[in-house]
Amino acid sequence: MLQTPPPSSPGKAPPASTTVRGACPHDCPDTCALLTTVEDGVAVRVQGNPAHAQTGGTLCTKVSRYTERTYHGERVLTPLRRVGPKGLGKFEPVSWDAALSDIAGRLQTIAARNPQAIVPYSYAGTMGLVQGESMAARFFNRLGASLLDRTICASAGGEGLVQTLGGKVGMKVEQFAHAKLILIWGSNSIGSNLHFWRYAQEAKRQGARLVCIDPRKTETADKCHEHIALMPGTDAALALALMHELIVHDWLDHDYIERHTLGWADLKARALLWPPARAAAVCGVPAAQIEQLARDYGTTRPAAIRLNYGMQRVRGGGNAARAIACLPALVGAWRHPAGGVLLSSSGQFPVDRAALQRPELLAGRQPRTLNMSTIGNDLLRESSTEFGPKIEALLVYNSNPVAVAPESGRVVRGFEREDLFTVVLEHFLTDTADHADYVLPATTQLEHWDVHTSYGHTDVLLNRPAIAPLGQALPNTQIFRELAARMGFDEPCFADSDEALCRAAFGERVDFAGLLAEGFATLPLADAPFADGGFPTPSGRCEFVSARLEAMGLDGLPDHVPNYELAGSSAAYPLAMISPPARNFLNSSFVNVKSLRDIEGEPLLEIHADDAAARGITSGSLVTVFNQRGRYRCKARVSERARPGVVNGLGVWWRKLGLDGSNVNELTSQLLTDLGRGPVFYDCLVEVALAPATVPA
Ligand code: SF4
Repeated sequence: MLQTPPPSSPGKAPPASTTVRGACPHDCPDTCALLTTVEDGVAVRVQGNPAHAQTGGTLCTKVSRYTERTYHGERVLTPLRRVGPKGLGKFEPVSWDAALSDIAGRLQTIAARNPQAIVPYSYAGTMGLVQGESMAARFFNRLGASLLDRTICASAGGEGLVQTLGGKVGMKVEQFAHAKLILIWGSNSIGSNLHFWRYAQEAKRQGARLVCIDPRKTETADKCHEHIALMPGTDAALALALMHELIVHDWLDHDYIERHTLGWADLKARALLWPPARAAAVCGVPAAQIEQLARDYGTTRPAAIRLNYGMQRVRGGGNAARAIACLPALVGAWRHPAGGVLLSSSGQFPVDRAALQRPELLAGRQPRTLNMSTIGNDLLRESSTEFGPKIEALLVYNSNPVAVAPESGRVVRGFEREDLFTVVLEHFLTDTADHADYVLPATTQLEHWDVHTSYGHTDVLLNRPAIAPLGQALPNTQIFRELAARMGFDEPCFADSDEALCRAAFGERVDFAGLLAEGFATLPLADAPFADGGFPTPSGRCEFVSARLEAMGLDGLPDHVPNYELAGSSAAYPLAMISPPARNFLNSSFVNVKSLRDIEGEPLLEIHADDAAARGITSGSLVTVFNQRGRYRCKARVSERARPGVVNGLGVWWRKLGLDGSNVNELTSQLLTDLGRGPVFYDCLVEVALAPATVPA
């Protein structure tokens, strides 16, 4: 049921309509510019801003339903205090004053013992710099709470990029429109990078060849000229075999390699260990397909690679990103604006994080850092010299770890601890909020200020509030200001307004008056950023060999690092599982928007016809997917979207909206990637059986 917007008074003139400029807050590379139409204080429509070239007036289906989400009948609009057992979601409304005073008192008591027993937990529920880590970071820094390693999505690939190119930098997304060959690698762009797909389509119309490299035959693969359905976790092997072919056929740009790269002789020796036949056996694709891809990549100019984060959610994810990021330098693709690679553009933005987060509030303290990807284990740990104090309090904002963190059986056990004090800032009673002692109502993007970078383009966007906060909802910033006041934190920085925080994010480096006037600003960057080298690495070159990795005792060269759970290594769990997002969800956001959930139907496992037949499974069968960590139930769909030996468990459903209160993360592990300490969601072996089934304990 939707919240009923206040009606216009009968007999009055039609409501004045205004349009407010904003930015999409969601974890998506596109960071669209929004136009919200407001009538009588009610947001009636959210559309893409046609003046913003990257948005082009078009939003995805999810966010075009943003008013449905904002006025959702299940919005949390008052502070709530738990009245039932943890996990049942039973609460009573309380006043802000009662909630904040009690929370502050509880935190002060814990902090008096050891502030590091208090842990923030947040990620990209909003990508905004202000409602993300600004006032919240100030609060936790002043408190001396544990720090959080925010690794859950992109840290392996990000680190791979940093070690190779020097930062999260790459091609300008609009330049893909002019490429003649585009490798769409580990990305279902139609579902998760729609505005890049628009440029790829433009290139296709101009004669470009599109190749999709992905274990799943995605909607994007359907529209490409070729699909290479490699096994999960074998991307580095494919990249090394491509290098092998570039070398033996001399499809190399020797001048570019000589002048702008580091470690060529070593990389060449490594790549020559990977003839296509070897990679074909590892990747599960024909050698001829690898040879043809290398020929296309080595002989087509300009050639561009759109890499996305799916491929780095395996043990060797960092190395895979490194190997792929080496390819453009080998063929001199960077010489052309439409050549190179783009994984993330976020390193291009001159964000003044110190101004937002005020690390000086730590006053010389150096709290421990906990990895958000292992929260399941960490919540169950006792105090020790190695770990530090047991976690006594968790403040969750912009995240839903009970649904999205790996090995959720252990995550749930941790959140169920009666001696854990949990506060959740949220819009809805998510799986995580159901475990909270207090749920505090947070504003949505239509109700607060924010400023945004992007990881898919290079524009800064400003988000103005379009409507007043619903109910008693408050921006995250204000909730942390109020808590700070009750904790006695009286530093002047806790009085900064949200608009002041928006200004502080870039200081003089972005014209704030322009942002206020237009809603967005394009960074002044070169079209071909590395045509003459100048990579932001220590050497200024594309670093095939990383001295920094070697100094850490790691392999300085990229290599294929096999999965922890290697396909074929377990008789009990013979299928590899990946868990890409369902098209109409964005991580766990939007799962409770009925119109979108209706499109998705129910939790689904895609399985190849051969694997299904071997288990007596047909489309629509209720199945149990299980491994040594847990099990979940869902419907099977026999589909060519799954390659033989790999099943696709589409995510991320809220546990309570799934079957039997479970979701796909029951099965994923808490092991970490080779670089960046990221999770390995797609490095996961399972078995599938018709349900009900006798599942080995
Ligand atoms: S989720 Fe992505 S495509 Fe959809 S509106 Fe937001 S930024 Fe644009």
